[in-house]
Amino acid sequence: MSHMVSGVRNGGGGVGSRMSAKLDRHSTGATPKSAAGKPRLSSGTAGAYRRTSSGPLPAAGGRASSESGAVCSRVRVAVRLRPRNAEELAADADFGDCVELQPELKRLKLRKNNWESETYQFDEVLTEFSSQKRVYEVVAKPVVESVLEGYNGTVMAYGQTGTGKTFTLGRLGGEDTAARGIMVRAMEDILADITPETDSVSVSYLQLYMEMIQDLLDPVNDNIAIVEDPRTGDVSLPGATIVEVRDQKSFVDLLRVGEAHRIAANTKLNTESSRSHAILMVNVRRAVKGRNEMDISMSGENGHSSSMMGSFRPPIVRKSKLVVVDLAGSERIDKSGSEGHTLEEAKSINLSLSALGKCINALAENSPHVPVRDSKLTRLLKDSFGGTARTSLVVTIGPSPRHRGETTSTIMFGQRAMKVENMVKLKEEFDYKSLCRRLDVELNKLIAENERQQKYFDDEVERIRAEAQYRIAEAERECKIALENEKMKYHQEYLDSIEILEEKWKVHQQSPKKQIKEAEPTSNDVNLLQNEKMQHQSAEHEANDLKNQVSHWKKLEATATAEVVKLRKMLDTEASEKEKLEEEIGVLRSQLLQMSMEADETRSLERGDGPEKIFPGLDSLVSQTRGSQPREQSNGPKQPIAKLFEQVGLQKILSLLESEEPDVRVHAVKVVANLAAEEANQEKIVEAGGLTSLLMLLRSSEDETIRRVAAGAIANLAMNETNQDLIMAQGGVTLLSMTALDAEDPQTLRMVAGAIANLCGNDKLQTRLRGEGGIKALLGMVRCGHPDVLAQVARGIANFAKCESRAATQGNKVGKSLLIHDGALPWIVKNANNEAAPIRRHIELALCHLAQHEVNAKDIINEGALWELVRISRNCSREDIRMLAYRTVTSSPTLEAERRALRIEL
Ligand code: ADP
Ligand code: MG
Repeated sequence: MSHMVSGVRNGGGGVGSRMSAKLDRHSTGATPKSAAGKPRLSSGTAGAYRRTSSGPLPAAGGRASSESGAVCSRVRVAVRLRPRNAEELAADADFGDCVELQPELKRLKLRKNNWESETYQFDEVLTEFSSQKRVYEVVAKPVVESVLEGYNGTVMAYGQTGTGKTFTLGRLGGEDTAARGIMVRAMEDILADITPETDSVSVSYLQLYMEMIQDLLDPVNDNIAIVEDPRTGDVSLPGATIVEVRDQKSFVDLLRVGEAHRIAANTKLNTESSRSHAILMVNVRRAVKGRNEMDISMSGENGHSSSMMGSFRPPIVRKSKLVVVDLAGSERIDKSGSEGHTLEEAKSINLSLSALGKCINALAENSPHVPVRDSKLTRLLKDSFGGTARTSLVVTIGPSPRHRGETTSTIMFGQRAMKVENMVKLKEEFDYKSLCRRLDVELNKLIAENERQQKYFDDEVERIRAEAQYRIAEAERECKIALENEKMKYHQEYLDSIEILEEKWKVHQQSPKKQIKEAEPTSNDVNLLQNEKMQHQSAEHEANDLKNQVSHWKKLEATATAEVVKLRKMLDTEASEKEKLEEEIGVLRSQLLQMSMEADETRSLERGDGPEKIFPGLDSLVSQTRGSQPREQSNGPKQPIAKLFEQVGLQKILSLLESEEPDVRVHAVKVVANLAAEEANQEKIVEAGGLTSLLMLLRSSEDETIRRVAAGAIANLAMNETNQDLIMAQGGVTLLSMTALDAEDPQTLRMVAGAIANLCGNDKLQTRLRGEGGIKALLGMVRCGHPDVLAQVARGIANFAKCESRAATQGNKVGKSLLIHDGALPWIVKNANNEAAPIRRHIELALCHLAQHEVNAKDIINEGALWELVRISRNCSREDIRMLAYRTVTSSPTLEAERRALRIEL
């Protein structure tokens, strides 16, 4: 309802389309009939009775505005009279209707009393007998057609409750198709006109009550905001459900759903539908055909460039909107707030409708200020009154004289609305999105084409290159042959001429005197001789040259032969050296085999039937209790190894780790593992690069035995802090974790778990160890279930928990235990009472360490670990652990509170 583009033709303009509001004061009785039958103009505008547009709507009668292509179009108003209903037929039987219609003159007479009536002119007067079809055709159809052409349109019904607004707009028809209202018929026309491939229709259905907009298609959504485009001033409801409509049936279903929701919502709000405004919004989006094609054909003779230009031109779409508004009943709600409404509610209910009335008044009076922003309804209908939409209003009235007051005010509303002018504008815009999609397709095509051409080009270059090479080779070959032939020819000629010369020479020698006597040499002969001499000389030169060349080649050949002899000698030396080395390797292999067998045997003898423990260092925690005994015992089997170590040298043994022969590798790794079990050797092994080689084996070896033994050796080396740092630095944790994931043999898992458990005991490596998946790998290995593996896992967890506890006490660690983060607690709880003592002990210690820190208390309680701590404090067989558990529980406020709450005795 922008007053900028709106305008009311006021009287003096004399423009044909002006309609006077009140045309005729038809007097009867006491009033002289001076003007009877003739219109008497209340506003004094001459010619106002004339109508310019022949149809009910101004599609053709509009006035084009100069620049914007906007067309001036007045709001069209029809009045519809409802037939008497049963009640009125009975109650008002003796009275005439309060109105009299003159449809052919498009006039309505409103009886003021028995002798006085006023006549009003409308764009259309619809009697009680008018069919729904006719009402649609005169009120809505022109608007719908105009929406289909790309203009916004509004169809509204205004009137007292019960006069037929909903009947006119919203009837679905059902069985009786003749009863269908404007909404249903409008959609039928829209769907029939659009092209489904390029156009689309979508609807929203809303209700406005007490200044709240509720989505009738999704009633939970009951406070939808109105959004105004700051550039165009267009209003929209982005929060409302928008449903794309493809066929009439689904649209009618939507209306039905919306109506049901409306009734339900109003029941909930304890009001009637007549108090709310129902708004149907139909968005129509149509592609404008033809114009682009025309642009393309005009853009140049060059077919290619013109089609390119055409494809860069965004297609045009028309986006128009049909708004159908079934307004709330126009009767005034009692200001005192009867009908069960408070005064505030009554004001609020009326607000939108009275704001609409004010805006229409302002527009009708051409007032400079139109209070559009006073209500949600007027904001929503901004475009419908004084805006750019084509608007058609139907005012509904009843016949009963009892409602004369309401009927009069309805008629006056309609009369004022007739003065409102809109500037209808085509809602056309460039469809950049679809252009974008089209350009994308174009671009992809061009890229593909470019790639294809590039490929063709590359192939062509390759082909030309090959051909050129072939030709060069051919030319070279031909050249060579020609040269050879030439050479041979000259050589032959040379030989021939020598022969001839020699012949001549001989003849000359045999008969010198005779010749001298017989013929004194003539000058001719002298020349010939001289010629021949010269030829002879040049031939000799040539011969010398060739001789020189031959001797040069011979020299070269001699040098080459000498070289070959030298190389052959070298080869012989190498071969004999290789033989020696092979022999040596053979000896070493047999020695290794013997040594490792001896070692294995001795070890199994020494360990008896118990589980095989190859490397003493691994069970450091367990062996602590055994004192130094095992170390001395292990001296026996180590002797042959030590011998070997001295005989062969560490470097050589380590080099055998990379041997091609699988057997050799297995034995070598066993030897290294045995050596690594001795603390005295560890440093040397690491220094010589043994740790790196072992880690390499872990990474690259497919052989489970090798990986098991290598992991064992690493576990032994991992007992020392310096080595722990090295293992860490060389990615050992990741390698061990990977091995843990792959391995199935419990002994391999035990070695890997042992190695990680050792690393767990290093305070400095905690975060990194966990970060590289060490804890997860450790916990993953419990899947194997073997007690030896579980013992190592438990030891690792205990080591880790101890370090964490130490760090926390020193203030170096805050936050929950990383073990808890990595999900160790459930396993800890499950195994806290494991029957195997080593497992149980480590877990008991780990639990105590974890519980010593308040941050962990919540998880300890949640996972049920408190019970285990209580159990440990009650009946652990080791007194020190029992005491530790007791102290731990009693000194933690959280655990202690929980224990008390659960009434657990310690
Ligand atoms: P409103 O929406 O204005 O409150 P309704 O459309 O609900 O009014 O109409 C009230 C009653 O009058 C309904 O029962 C309706 O069927 C009936 N009615 C309204 N207009 C007509 C008409 N033109 N012909 C026959 N019945 C009508
Ligand atoms: Mg109604």
